[in-house]
Amino acid sequence: MTPDRNEECRALVTKARRILCDIDGCLIRGDSPIDGAAAFVRSVADKLVLVSNNSTDTAATLSLRLSRIGLPVPESRLFLAGEQTLLHLKATLGRPRIMLIATDTIRSRAAQLGFDLTPDRPDLVVLCRAPHARVMEIEAALGQIIRGVPAVAANPDVTHPGPTGPAIETGALVHMLGACHPGLSMPIIGKPEPSLFHRALQGIGIEHAVMIGDNSETDIAGARRLGMSSILVHPDRRFGRTIADLVVPSDEERRFQQTVV
Ligand SMILES: [Mg+2]
Repeated sequence: MTPDRNEECRALVTKARRILCDIDGCLIRGDSPIDGAAAFVRSVADKLVLVSNNSTDTAATLSLRLSRIGLPVPESRLFLAGEQTLLHLKATLGRPRIMLIATDTIRSRAAQLGFDLTPDRPDLVVLCRAPHARVMEIEAALGQIIRGVPAVAANPDVTHPGPTGPAIETGALVHMLGACHPGLSMPIIGKPEPSLFHRALQGIGIEHAVMIGDNSETDIAGARRLGMSSILVHPDRRFGRTIADLVVPSDEERRFQQTVV
C-alpha cells in the first residue's frame, strides 16, 4: 500500500482523483513552508485536500495563514479535526448543548454554528486543544463525565512540535481525564480514526485516493486501516523522502523535459 520508490509514489499521486495531505511536517514546519511544498500544491491543484488533526484553527483562519506563506489552498479544501468535530456533531446530533474545552477561535466557530456553549447540564463534553484552559475548567468537564455525560475528542495526539518544544495537545487532556476517571473511553474524530478521512473524501472512493503524511501512527495507520494507499514523507530531507519528491511535472513541463533530453 506504500511504495518504496519515488517514481512509484509520483505515479500514485498522478493517478489519484483525491490527494489527502497532512499539513505539519508535510507542507509546513513551524510557520514556514517546507522546500517543494508550494510546487507540490501547484502541481496537484484541486485534487488536493488537507487533512489535519489541528483542533486550534478553523479552515478559514488556517487557509489565510497558508496563503500568506505561498500555499494557497481554499478553506473548502481544509479538513481540520476540531472544526470537523463540530460539523460532525451538528450533522449527527443537531445542535447539542456542549461543554467545549477549546481555543477562542474554535469556541467562536461553535457559536457561529449555533451550538449552545453551556457549562451547565451539557449533553456532551467536547475536547479540543486548549492551551489556555484552566485546571478548574478541566475539572468541571471531569465532573460532567463522572455524572454520565458522554465526551468526544477532536484528536488523539498527545503533543505536536511547537516553536520552543512539544506543545500539549488534546490527547494529553484525554489521558489526564482517563487518569482521574479510570475506564473512561471516548470517540475520536481525528486521524487515525476513519471519520476525518471520510469527511475529506467527500464521496470519492478509497481506491481513487492517496494519503500523504509524516506520522506513521495517525496518517499512515489510519489510511491503511481504511485500505487507502499512503505515502510517508519527512519534514527533513536528511531522513528520507519529502514533499518535494512528490511534485508531479505538468504535461507542458514533461514535454519540455523530453525535448531537452
Ligand atoms: Mg504531521
